[in-house]
Amino acid sequence: MSQTLAIIKPDATGNGKAGKILAHLEDEGFTVRAIRMVRLTRAQAEAFYEVHRGRPFYEELVEFMTSGPCIPLALEADDAVSRLREVIGATDPTEAEEGTIRKLYAESKGRNAIHASDSDENAARETSFFFPEAERIGSGR
Ligand code: ATP
Ligand code: MG
Repeated sequence: MSQTLAIIKPDATGNGKAGKILAHLEDEGFTVRAIRMVRLTRAQAEAFYEVHRGRPFYEELVEFMTSGPCIPLALEADDAVSRLREVIGATDPTEAEEGTIRKLYAESKGRNAIHASDSDENAARETSFFFPEAERIGSGR
């Protein structure tokens, strides 16, 4: 078993899809090890997406991620990082496969319902960003 970090993004918390997305993740076999709701500050959003600083969409991304509540989730499964990337689908919902979370719930490439870590290293870093050790339940990170 391994863990990864997902974030249900402000478009989904704002349009009432957060519960459906959480149910979808559980139906796909992920176990929730930590969960909270946060309204990111600009400084937090900039830090979280530091790797994208300077990209043309960076400002839009920071604006969006601070526009409403986010729900970070520490999720456990076999091959959690790659499995979650499959389940969420492509960044742009028009390119996402049928049945993926982004195909079902994303509005656009920017407002795309959910984030998922893209490596074990980033999963560890991103999980620590939102959850101190004591907030995580069970095995793994
Ligand atoms: P995430 O990191 O949120 O899981 P991702 O790994 O599929 O998404 P990245 O390339 O890491 O995609 O981009 C991070 C986020 O920045 C995307 O999820 C999306 O919200 C936003 N983004 C990326 N490219 C664009 C773009 N061309 N236009 C608008 N927003 C974009
Ligand atoms: Mg990414």
